[in-house]
Amino acid sequence: MDTLLAWLFAGGHRKISADRGGETREDLLMNLTPRPNRRRFLSQITAGAGVSTALPARSAKADHHGGGKKLGFALVGLGSLSTNQIAPGLLKTKHCKLAGIVTGTPAKEKVWAEKYGIPESCIYNYENFDSIKDNPDIDVVYVVLPNSMHKEYTIRAAEAGKHVLCEKPMANSAADCEAMIAACQKANRKLAIGYRCQFEPHHVEIMRLAREKSFGDMKIIEAGFGFKIGNPDQWRLKADLAGGGALMDVGIYALQACRYLTGEEPAVISAMEAKTDLEKFNEVDETIVWSMKFPSGVLANCNTTYNFSGVNHCKASCSNGWFGLDPAYGYGGITGKTSKGDLKFESGDQFAGEMDDFAKSINEDKESRVAGEEGLKDLIAIEAIYKSIRTGTPVKLS
Ligand code: NAD
Repeated sequence: MDTLLAWLFAGGHRKISADRGGETREDLLMNLTPRPNRRRFLSQITAGAGVSTALPARSAKADHHGGGKKLGFALVGLGSLSTNQIAPGLLKTKHCKLAGIVTGTPAKEKVWAEKYGIPESCIYNYENFDSIKDNPDIDVVYVVLPNSMHKEYTIRAAEAGKHVLCEKPMANSAADCEAMIAACQKANRKLAIGYRCQFEPHHVEIMRLAREKSFGDMKIIEAGFGFKIGNPDQWRLKADLAGGGALMDVGIYALQACRYLTGEEPAVISAMEAKTDLEKFNEVDETIVWSMKFPSGVLANCNTTYNFSGVNHCKASCSNGWFGLDPAYGYGGITGKTSKGDLKFESGDQFAGEMDDFAKSINEDKESRVAGEEGLKDLIAIEAIYKSIRTGTPVKLS
């Protein structure tokens, strides 16, 4: 992974060996290309605020952080994302700080403590995690574990009196999402999902173009995200830990894009799956195409895969033109185009933006734009996609 970071910071484009077996996933997400240092806008288009598709959830009063102090985050699970994106992202935040860690690997404790100055009193393992309730330095627990563990640690964190930021996909089922939302409501704690793209300027801009109908009425969305997954032994290929395959992991970005571009929930979903490597993908999905019809009449055509790269886009075709991103969902290198010209923004750190936004929603006692209800809505659609594949028929959603 050091090699990866060196490559990243050097801005290189050579192939690297990532820790999950191959260059594919990290290469895809790290798709960094040099960006201009200043924001430039299309002459016809001015920047605006993003839109929210989140439903309001019950308010959680920020009882001891009214003054806007930096909130202490504890990361649960110190794998690739925590190590390479979230912890570095925390250093770039204005309203957050890395205050604690939760890990099952003792060797990581010393490394992280030294690197980030974390005192022993803020280092937990999975067994003593619940005693985090007695730690006033930790305000937010950020759950960065395999998908099936999100529910347990979100609920335990809420019961310990902590606000929760949980990685995507929110859980392995809509029912689990509902239980997580209910636990955070009961504890009067805020819950948000790690939908980092919603804090990325190109995505914020296409939300605005959609909302303001800058290119007329939206007609069709095309969106996809996929990559060739490496190591066949990783948890992402185990159904009990991952809950699904490419769709749960990266197809969810294309689904999200369709939902936040339309501002609607799909009314009908139809899906098909192709499985060409039965051994590697015997537990989870490999390649899925799905279509969605939204109540306004917008049609979406989406795809996702774990078996090839080059799928990383979203495009909205409208009555008076089009706009889109390609590549669309990496940590950097997002490129926007429209029928009137290019969209160019400096991307910044999406994780820092996501965490600062959550801190702000806690400090100001406002609902996050990526509250738990957003994760639930994605899981409802994902379950409909899997149901359509199983039954071979379109699924209507109320
Ligand atoms: P990872 O495999 O690199 O790390 C997982 C961590 O969980 C490791 O520290 C591991 O030790 C720990 N763990 C605890 N119990 C485990 C178990 N039973 N099996 C496997 N690992 C266990 O994974 P990651 O890439 O860091 O992903 C973590 C979460 O973050 C996932 O939910 C994933 O979907 C999400 N994620 C989000 C993004 C994003 O851009 N928002 C990117 C990557 C991953």
